[in-house]
Amino acid sequence: MANTDTDLNVATFVTDWLSFEPASRVGGERHFAASSQLALQEFSEPFVGWLLIGLLAASTSSPRLLASLGAGPLEDLLSHHPHRFVPLAASEARLNAGIRSALRSTLLCHHEVPEALLERLEAAVPGFVRLPECGCEAGV
Ligand SMILES: [Zn+2]
Repeated sequence: MANTDTDLNVATFVTDWLSFEPASRVGGERHFAASSQLALQEFSEPFVGWLLIGLLAASTSSPRLLASLGAGPLEDLLSHHPHRFVPLAASEARLNAGIRSALRSTLLCHHEVPEALLERLEAAVPGFVRLPECGCEAGV
C-alpha cells in the first residue's frame, strides 16, 4: 500500500489482500503487505482487527485464502485474546460460512484458550480441530 501512516483505506486493504491466490505462488506483495497491516491493526486495535477479518472472510470463497486467514490473523487474534474473541467467533461461525471455513484452519491449544472456549468452537464449527501436540509444556 502507498499509505505509510496508520490510516487504513479499507477498500484498498481488502482489494490488496484478495489480489493473491496462495496456490499461484506468483506475486503476492500486495497481499502480504495487507497481511502485515492486519497484524499491526490486531496489535493496536484488536476489535478493528476482528472486523477486518470478518470483512475479508465475507469477501472471498477461496478455500486457500480462507485457510490462510484462519491459520494466520484469526489464529493470532483468538490466541492472544481468547476471552474477548472466541465467543464472538463461535457466534459468527454459525451465520458466516467464511469464518466457519477459516476456523477449520485455526490451530489453538488449551494453554492459549481455556477448555470451555475450545468446546464452544468445537460445537459451532464442524471440523474444528484443536492443536493436539502443542509443545507448550516443553517450554514451561
Ligand atoms: Zn499448548
